[in-house]
Amino acid sequence: MLNFTVGPVMSSESVRKIGGEQTPYFRNDEFSKVMFENEELMKEFVYADEDSRAVFITGSGTAAMEATVMNVLNQNDKVLIVNGGGFGQRFVDLCNLHEIPNDEIRLDFGQNITQEILDEYSNKNYTAFLVNICETSSCVYYDLDLISKFCKENNIFLIVDAISSFLANPLNMVEQNIDVVITGSQKALACPPGVSIIVLGPNALEKVENSKSKSMYFDLKDMLKNGERGQTPFTPAVTILLQINQRLKEIKSQGGVEAEIKRISTLANDFREKIKDLPLEVKCDCLGNSVTGVYCIDSNAEDIVNALKFDYNIWINPNGGEIGNKMFRVGHIGDLTLEDNDKLIEAFKDLEKRGILK
Ligand SMILES: *Cc1c(COP(=O)(O)O)cnc(C)c1O
Repeated sequence: MLNFTVGPVMSSESVRKIGGEQTPYFRNDEFSKVMFENEELMKEFVYADEDSRAVFITGSGTAAMEATVMNVLNQNDKVLIVNGGGFGQRFVDLCNLHEIPNDEIRLDFGQNITQEILDEYSNKNYTAFLVNICETSSCVYYDLDLISKFCKENNIFLIVDAISSFLANPLNMVEQNIDVVITGSQKALACPPGVSIIVLGPNALEKVENSKSKSMYFDLKDMLKNGERGQTPFTPAVTILLQINQRLKEIKSQGGVEAEIKRISTLANDFREKIKDLPLEVKCDCLGNSVTGVYCIDSNAEDIVNALKFDYNIWINPNGGEIGNKMFRVGHIGDLTLEDNDKLIEAFKDLEKRGILK
């Protein structure tokens, strides 16, 4: 199996090996040490302030999104949300569910954010900004510098869902004035799904401290307190946290976050170059490194996704909704190589020969 979806993605052999072992007991110093390392490496890889903290939630990425909305925002906020697809809509739904006042910057599918668009929202007393920096549904990668500058000028608290772009595109919490970064285990971290991570800067920690939010499982205060001794309030996904530890240390030993970003960007650029000879088209000029949205010129995208899966054992991401028969997505995150790209390109060429790709 060759998996080019955007998550869960291919894991390295060392990460998979941990998954095959017995799950150890965790209320002890050995596991606390693992969690301290995880927290330090996460903070390092997002260039967080020394006084920041990271929490690990057992739950998919959406759990971290919801915990952030619940513990960092409240009814006195006025939140601005970039909504350019499925994940932006999820932030809108979460704010509505938790009765956090919000406005949306509604973008068309595939549309990028611009200075002109942001200008309309300047000096309007917004208190917080929510963005999925890579809107994985459309593959658009929003301009983080532009957003960061807007938030700084307007004194707005910035929350970035970097679930699909952490380790694939650079992000610097201190330099870009990001207060919260959210990510998850099953995207570029290349571990099984089940753990999501929130890195909280000093201002975010203050908000959590003052929060009156009511939840037992999503209580960030409780998670932070337990984290001081390298523990979690409840039984976490122990094995996945051990896998995350292996992966973070591997990245560190192989040149750190910059080297990993470069590796992923090389794969993305190689793929985008190699499909130029095929009846496929990349329309978006604002892609990140994690994923490429590919349009079919004369063939049905769903047929391509299915043929690759059933005839070649290669998985790519279908698109939901109306666009599903025109567009598919190819991920570049996880344990993939340039040779794997070649296998995918060979399969496309074979599909072309067979008249399925046209
Ligand atoms: C994958 C992803 C999520 C998380 O989705 P889950 O299914 O809850 O893990 C959130 N935001 C973005 C941008 C994503 O790509």
